[in-house]
Amino acid sequence: MIDTHIHLDEEAYAPDREAMIARQKECGVTAMIVPGVNAMSVEGILDLCRRYPGYCYAGLGFHPQDVKADWQEQWAIIEKAIRENRKELVAIGEIGLDYYWDITFKDAQQEVFKRQLALAEELDLPVMIHNREATEDTLKILKEAHVHGVIHCFNGSKETAQQILNMGLYLGIGGVLTFKNCKLSETLEIVPMERIVLETDGPYLAPTPHRGERNESRLMILVAERLAQVYNCSIDTIIAATNANAKRLFGLK
Ligand SMILES: [Zn+2]
Repeated sequence: MIDTHIHLDEEAYAPDREAMIARQKECGVTAMIVPGVNAMSVEGILDLCRRYPGYCYAGLGFHPQDVKADWQEQWAIIEKAIRENRKELVAIGEIGLDYYWDITFKDAQQEVFKRQLALAEELDLPVMIHNREATEDTLKILKEAHVHGVIHCFNGSKETAQQILNMGLYLGIGGVLTFKNCKLSETLEIVPMERIVLETDGPYLAPTPHRGERNESRLMILVAERLAQVYNCSIDTIIAATNANAKRLFGLK
């Protein structure tokens, strides 16, 4: 299993990060992608991924929730880091729009999102996209961009999924699929298996029955199990397909 989105640099993993990563390996997790969220997180992510070559892969980006009054200074640092470390990166992310918590910097969020999409196109890197309560604007901006990538932690309608598929993008599927009353399995009826990747969004969104606990990549097996029911196939088929998809999208060996 490949975890295409885990915030391994977060405090939640600080007490036992090394042991935790070793445990994932034992449980069949073959790679992890760590997205960046702001200027402060750049060095920590690069250092962490350098310690696990061929296992932990870095993305760098500017998360919409971190776009505040100092966004221009932060963007300058992040853009420089992305350019200087291009060869080490497998993606630009996590980027996107988030109107759920705060829309004070809505315009700046859109500007930063567009700049990162342009940079991804220029440097030929896939993007990891975050969208919360901003589907219309996210899709509108993406349609004007020319990027490949994934809508991470997807939990939308069939109509939204279809637009994403039409743009050639992938859907990141995580613990939300296992939540009670989740409609995502209905949406997946129109999503080919070739276009989904597994993710945790750890430390958040642990699958049922671990909801509320710290999420770890090995728990993706519960998501794979649910996907096997949805696609009416074996868990091995889901794992093989999502591994191949993640490798193709992010250029992993
Ligand atoms: Zn995330």
